[in-house]
This record gives sequence, C-alpha cells and structure tokens, in this order.
Amino acid sequence: MTDAPTLVWLREDLRLDDNPALRAAADRGQPVACLYVVDDEVAGTFALGGAQRWWLHHTLNTLRADIEKAGGVLILRRGDARVIVPAVADELGAHAVYWNRRYMAWQIEQDKALKETLSDGREVKSFNGRLLNEPWQIETKTGGPYKVYTPYWKQVQARDVRNPLAKVTKLSAPARVPESDNVEAWELLPTRPNWAKGFEPVWTPGEKGARQRWREWLKTQGPSTYNDSRNRPDLDDTSRMAPHIHFGEISIVTMYREMQDKIEAGEVPEEHGKVFLSELAWREFSYNLTYHFPQMFDEPLMQKFAKFEWDNDNDQFTAWTKGLTGYPIVDAGMRQLWHEGHMHNRVRMIVGSFLVKDLLIDWRKGMDWFWDTLVCADPAANTASWQWVAGCGADAAPFFRIFNPISQGEKFDPDGDYVKRHCPELAKLPKKYIHKPWEAPPFVLRDAGIELGKDYPRPIVDHGSKRKEALARYEAIK
Ligand SMILES: Cc1cc2nc3c(=O)[nH]c(=O)nc-3n(C[C@H](O)[C@H](O)[C@H](O)COP(=O)(O)OP(=O)(O)OC[C@H]3O[C@@H](n4cnc5c(N)ncnc54)[C@H](O)[C@@H]3O)c2cc1C
Repeated sequence: MTDAPTLVWLREDLRLDDNPALRAAADRGQPVACLYVVDDEVAGTFALGGAQRWWLHHTLNTLRADIEKAGGVLILRRGDARVIVPAVADELGAHAVYWNRRYMAWQIEQDKALKETLSDGREVKSFNGRLLNEPWQIETKTGGPYKVYTPYWKQVQARDVRNPLAKVTKLSAPARVPESDNVEAWELLPTRPNWAKGFEPVWTPGEKGARQRWREWLKTQGPSTYNDSRNRPDLDDTSRMAPHIHFGEISIVTMYREMQDKIEAGEVPEEHGKVFLSELAWREFSYNLTYHFPQMFDEPLMQKFAKFEWDNDNDQFTAWTKGLTGYPIVDAGMRQLWHEGHMHNRVRMIVGSFLVKDLLIDWRKGMDWFWDTLVCADPAANTASWQWVAGCGADAAPFFRIFNPISQGEKFDPDGDYVKRHCPELAKLPKKYIHKPWEAPPFVLRDAGIELGKDYPRPIVDHGSKRKEALARYEAIK
C-alpha cells in the first residue's frame, strides 16, 4: 500500500519523544499528518483557562517547528473534535487514525464515539501516552479502585515501568495536506492587558523547554534534598515540571525511569528520590480517583459535605484572588499564582485551607480560579487536590485539620523570603512580624514604611474565630 497516510490526533501529548501514538504512526512507514484541535465546545467548563491558553500558543508553535523539522506536518483546527477529526481524516485520505488516551468521562465518551465513526474502513488505535498505569490497571485485592493513597503507591512500586520509546526524528509528509488554522489567529495570548508578562521569564513551553528544565533541575540540589525542601516555598527547589507534564511535553515514563536510574546509580539519595517518584504517583492517584468517581468534578466525594453551609462572600473571594487578605503567606501565594501562573504546593494547601475554612467559601470556587490561572491546571490533579484540601475527597486531610496561616508561614518560610519576594511592600518588616504584620508595634511598622490598611491590608477575618466557626459548621454535617 503506498501513500496511505496516518493521522495522529495530538491532545495532551505534545512531544516527539516517547510518544506511543506518534511512534506507531511513524513505524507504519506511510506519510503522517498530525492534528491538534482546540475544542472549547465539548470541553464545556473544562475549556482551557486563560493561563493555559498562553502556554498552548507557545507550545504549538514549537511543536509545529519540531514536527516540520522531522519532515511532518501539524494541522491546527478549532471547534468540535467529533466533527473535525473525521473531516480531516477524509480530507487527508487517512487509512489510519491514532491517538494517546485521555481519562475524563467526557473525553472517553468522545473517543468512543469517534472510534466508531472513524473505524469505517480505517484502522483506529489508541495508546497510553499519559500515565505509568491506566486507572483500570491497579485494583485492590478485592477488585475495584483504591481510595487510599498508601496501598495504591505500594502497587505502583511493585509494577515495572516500560522503557521509553525512541524519539520520532523522521516523518514523511502526505502529498495533499488539509488546510490548517494559524495559531496567531486563535488569539490565545492576552493583550489588553497582557497579564501574562510575568510568565515569560519563568517558563519555556515546548518539548525542548521541558527537557531542559528537567535536565537542569536534576543537576541542582533539589532532587537530593527533595523530601525536606519540597515543603519550603522560600527555597523554590521543586522541579516546576507540572505544566510540561500536563501538556505532555515530556513523558511521565521518561521522568520516572530517569529518576529511578539516578537513585540506582547513587546520584540521588533514595529517601529523597523515592519521595519525588511518590509525587508522580499522586498525580496518577488523582487520575485513578477521577476516572472511577467522575462525580468528583462537581460534587464532594464524601456525600455529607454536600450539606455544608458556605458563606461565599464575594468581597472576601475577590480579596483572596488578588492576594489582599492581610495574611502574608496567603497573599504571597495568590500573587505568585497571578504573576507566574504557578504556586508552590505547600502554599496551595495553605491558600486552599484559608479559602475553605477561614473564609467559608466553597472549594469549587477556588478550584475554578486555579483552573483559570494555573499554567499546569489539570482536571484530575486540580479536582482531587481541592477535595483533599477541603477534607471531602479520598484520603483527604481531615476537615478539622485547619492550617494556621501564621504558624505555617513561620515554619515553611522561616525568614519570610517567599513573602518578601511576592509582597514587596512587606520587604522591610522584621522577621518576627513578617507573617503577622498586625502584631508589629507602630514604630516597627513606621520604620518598615507600612501603614496597615493603606500599604498592606489588615486581616480580612480573624483566624481564631473563623476556625471555631468552621468546626461548628463541620459538626452540623457530621
Ligand atoms: C489546591 C491544589 C490544587 C492543585 N492543582 C494542580 C493542578 O491543577 N495541576 C497539577 O499538576 N498539580 C496540582 N496540584 C498539585 C501540586 O501542587 C503541583 O503538582 C506541584 O505544586 C507542581 O509543582 P512542581 O512541578 O514543582 O512539583 P514537584 O514537587 O517537582 O513534583 C513533580 C510532579 O509531581 C506531580 N505532583 C506533585 N505533587 C502532586 C500532588 N499533590 N498531586 C498531584 N500531582 C502532584 C506533578 O506532576 C509535579 O509536576 C494542586 C495542589 C493543590 C493543593
């Protein structure tokens, strides 16, 4: 059979290395065309948020260049994938259509429907290009999904992880290439105002940027101190690989295997390297949960929380989003999120607890804000993590474990460096008051150039009394 092109529908696997669908297409030995579809229609509330649109713009530009360098083509289209994928397959005269699987209920439904439509005379195949283990591959002894992380992690460790597949370096383009949109015309970048300015010095979207960050991080002290330093936002020692992983610019198999090799070679101490691997498994656990309990995207997994009484005060919610709550560690986190599209994991837990348990605002509002502002926003990880923070998810932090924003700040940002980085108006405040400026005597505030209520807000709520209120509300649903 000559010139029987293969169509590879790329989704959250925007790479040429260890890409099972693309590898299989290249190995077919026929011309290959790649397709990316921005599908806001079917995605509904999971249409890409603003920060991710910025990322998508840049990653698609680099992906196109990488594919073209290998001799292939990338077609871009916008709209309902259920219509576009078969249309492009027809225009191309594709004999085969391949993709890597996704795991949200609506995505699975879409893939099933497409498989049926496309199978009419074509070979249609899907692959695992996103996870170490697919959600149905790890079950409890009695069958069914794990709801507790530790035994799940044990199972992950007991299973072999396959070898990464060779990078696709050579593709042949089809004779007739269907038309492509221009990514510039999609207007994914913010302009008025350009709120993503702060992203540019921090991130390099694309496969090359992912590989580079991963390699560089492996050379830092981050992996060798991970179990301790991962909790310290001031040190900023974590990998920051999350957005690259989310867009599939690097494969999780590659990362897992390379960290395993470093541990075996004695280059990363086992007690630290293993914790990093276990964090990758937390991501998988989120996929496991949301695959088996898709209601989690909208509802608390623990049903009793459906009756929880929220205040949902709009002004307080706005103060939280803007980093103007008067609690420095919370404000630093929320401002980091806005400026960089990222927030340190420890601080995500602190701001989440503050929203839910101090402000008594529904965790779903926080989840939606993160969805719009995080460059790594991931349906599974974001949903499962918010439910964890709110105490209503699987293996969640118990509701009565309420983070104290002052002691959390003092413990994990002991010199206040993280706060000072993101709340520069507090930069001159002595360490003793950096996490509780309202306790500073007037002359200290004056020397630091701060007038509370003018240069920096007074706390919008009193943590002690809100803590009691939150516990009382919890008692009411117990
Ligand atoms: C409220 C809340 C919301 C979150 N939303 C997201 C989200 O939308 N997308 C997302 O990728 N992560 C989310 N996380 C998990 C975690 O905060 C980020 O993965 C991590 O901070 C990313 O930084 P890093 O790449 O430097 O992580 P590292 O510490 O270097 O970890 C390496 C990788 O492991 C994975 N990982 C680490 N911790 C977790 C975790 N707790 N749960 C799931 N995966 C994890 C990520 O892929 C991460 O890139 C959320 C956590 C909380 C508390």
